[in-house]
Amino acid sequence: MNIKHYLLVMSVSLSALSAQAGADTFLYNDERFADLQMLRYQVHGFDQLSLRQKELIYYLSEAALCGRDILWDQNGRYNLRIRQLLETIYTDYKGNRKSKDFQAFVTYLKRVWFSNGIHHHYGCEKFQPGFSEDFLRKAIKSIDPAKIPFDTEELFPVIFDPKVMPKRTNQADGEDLVQTSAANYYGAGVTQAEAEDFYLKMKEAAPDPAHPVMFGMNSRLIKENGELKEKVWRSGGLYGAAIDRIIYWLQKAKTVAENAKQAAVLDKLIEYYQTGDLHTFDAYTILWVQETAGIVDFTNGFTESYGDPLGMKASWEGFANFKDMAATERTKKLSNNAQWFEDHSPVDSRFKKENCKGITAKVIVAAILGGDLYPSTAIGINLPNSNWVRAEHGSKSVTIGNLTDAYNKAAHGNGFQEEFVIDEQTRQLIDKYGDVCDDLHTDLHECLGHGSGKLLPGVDADSLKAYGSAIEEARADLFGLYYIADPKLIELGLTPDAEAYKSQYYTYMMNGLMTQLVRIEPGNDIEEAHMRNRALIAHWVLKHATAVPNGSVTVPEGSPEGKPAVELVKRDGKTFVQVNNYPALRALFGQLLAEIQRIKSEGDFEGARRLIETYGVKVDAELHREILSRYQALNLAPYKGFINPEYIVERDANGTITDIRVTYGEAYDHQMLRYSRDYRTLPFINE
Ligand code: ZN
Repeated sequence: MNIKHYLLVMSVSLSALSAQAGADTFLYNDERFADLQMLRYQVHGFDQLSLRQKELIYYLSEAALCGRDILWDQNGRYNLRIRQLLETIYTDYKGNRKSKDFQAFVTYLKRVWFSNGIHHHYGCEKFQPGFSEDFLRKAIKSIDPAKIPFDTEELFPVIFDPKVMPKRTNQADGEDLVQTSAANYYGAGVTQAEAEDFYLKMKEAAPDPAHPVMFGMNSRLIKENGELKEKVWRSGGLYGAAIDRIIYWLQKAKTVAENAKQAAVLDKLIEYYQTGDLHTFDAYTILWVQETAGIVDFTNGFTESYGDPLGMKASWEGFANFKDMAATERTKKLSNNAQWFEDHSPVDSRFKKENCKGITAKVIVAAILGGDLYPSTAIGINLPNSNWVRAEHGSKSVTIGNLTDAYNKAAHGNGFQEEFVIDEQTRQLIDKYGDVCDDLHTDLHECLGHGSGKLLPGVDADSLKAYGSAIEEARADLFGLYYIADPKLIELGLTPDAEAYKSQYYTYMMNGLMTQLVRIEPGNDIEEAHMRNRALIAHWVLKHATAVPNGSVTVPEGSPEGKPAVELVKRDGKTFVQVNNYPALRALFGQLLAEIQRIKSEGDFEGARRLIETYGVKVDAELHREILSRYQALNLAPYKGFINPEYIVERDANGTITDIRVTYGEAYDHQMLRYSRDYRTLPFINE
């Protein structure tokens, strides 16, 4: 599970940039296109690592880049061919490179790079090219056909026809989600009902129902001669060529592992990649959770299930990192008190964990981002996903400090808060406490939220189906929102005072009710799980805040009489969030947390559906128009991504590694082309 960074206040215009302190400017980049802006992150502390640790990170970073093609193919069966075609035109095109068509073509390619495919990385809708079919045909004629050894004609409808593969991952209630999603997790002709039935039977036949493997996680489900079967992603199987390259680097990593446990983790992962056996995968994740002594850590494999409309099949991602020792102290305080938080949460005691254990929390420094974490990335990760492994062996929660840092630096002074925050007093609150509380909310979400609560005996972890991800994210967010206002955090020294939480409450409500809408195209519903979660929480609270009369919760002195805890108000024709009663807001977050936990614990699919469809999906068209036009006037990019650093290996005359340096200067297009050249691991067609 990961949380994508949702603050929409992270863009810096070039003029604001030059006003920044010089030391920070390398974090920014002038690369800006469509709704995207590229940032850089600093791998602070890398130089202080031992040579052996640097080597380990280097090998893990190579392993993290070698799976890139897998994700491209998972995101759509034509993506690798389209990438090859577009890149060849980009480098070899002999026509007028200043023409409107070519400029639009470049923007399209940059978006495709960013999304690892032809659909928006977040909204999932297919990009509409700003260049003509005619331009593309002529461009194809101008390049060497040997570089595009496949039928380009069948790519035209895929690129241009809005009706062909319109959504990567469709979540529209009532449609066949498998057949209407372009993601490449199911073969031709497989229906949603067939896929659900296939995995239900598999689950029912499992010998140990208390310890189920992650069924379907590492395969494409196809229909062959009318029969369903899995094509497993493993060495010798589907994506085997990429997986073999990954294994090569993991084996290298093993030779410089920091301790025997870490070597065993790598060994098990290699075994899993070789066999595709999901029991081996579980064994690997258990070893991985238990290995906490090493400074260096990684994820590598089929991990996030957001891209599968049924939430089972996992997209490939790779990540190498190391511990940020000072910041880790912060999250240790939370995990050391995990049981206290569990015991005092407002959920029904039947749904609480009696023994909160194994939640290790740490702040890490990202060293490389790969697969589904690149270039758009998470700022926190909580793994593994298997419920029983989490319950019996614990999980690892991380906050990625250097990425959060880069976002925060990019967000200051860009005009966003002046436009959307209601008054100067609230802006000052956010200025003072915003960064601290954002980090803290992420910590609470990852370290405690996902790890809290339990399913009632016999409840299937997948019973919420397509609503599972959004409900899970809501649960973790609410846990964080409820506790960020708790005096316990002041006692632990995590919040400076009793005012700080208000900044998080305000920005959360503002984001959920208004500003996250800048990521939605006019007329579209909210589909992405984290966005649904935030809309659900904010709208539910808004609705119930109106119904709460003053006095039903302790109203602090000086609180306005007879007003709802939170409301939307108009000022000079613009809509703002006004919070009248912060403690009442906390009570509402607590109420909703209790209900969401009940839904999760009981596997109440109808309850999940009702909540999400009522509060988390629909968009108020008029408000949406207003927010978009106000946002547009600010000229900010709603999404950010990161250009990776580059690791330079220095060797002596014998070829022995003497040092590894990290450098940051690479341009976006250069990096993408280099990756396509050096990490091309798969054929253009993977059947
Ligand atoms: Zn999460």
